[in-house]
Amino acid sequence: MSGCIFCQIVNGEAPGRIVHRDALVTAFHDRRPISALHLLIVPNEHIASLNELDESQSALAAHLLFTAQRLAAQMGVAEKGYRLVMNTGRDGGQSVAHLHLHLIAGRLAGWHLG
Ligand code: AMP
Ligand code: ZN
Repeated sequence: MSGCIFCQIVNGEAPGRIVHRDALVTAFHDRRPISALHLLIVPNEHIASLNELDESQSALAAHLLFTAQRLAAQMGVAEKGYRLVMNTGRDGGQSVAHLHLHLIAGRLAGWHLG
């Protein structure tokens, strides 16, 4: 979707520190990390938020989760632990209208809710 910053990162039209990409999802570093490790995992196709995710896309939803699990292991934080957050809508603190899962690990530097 033109004008969507995460679509632009997925399509290589905007810079992003990409750590993983496959047919369904892309993962990259958050540009304003709130902890030592702060990644965003997004579907490659534009889905505005969890509200727009259809149950027919359950394979994509599962893949988001298992990509987070795999990246946590790869980044060496699986044992110590990490946090997965999906802000949804205005009151949920969602500031970018392209569905994304935050993978946050290490001591929190603060938590903003949008
Ligand atoms: P949320 O508040 O849940 O919508 O999270 C959006 C996140 O996207 C924030 O943590 C921002 O720091 C991050 N963000 C916004 N623009 C970019 C960008 N161009 N590259 C990387 N992260 C971004
Ligand atoms: Zn998008």
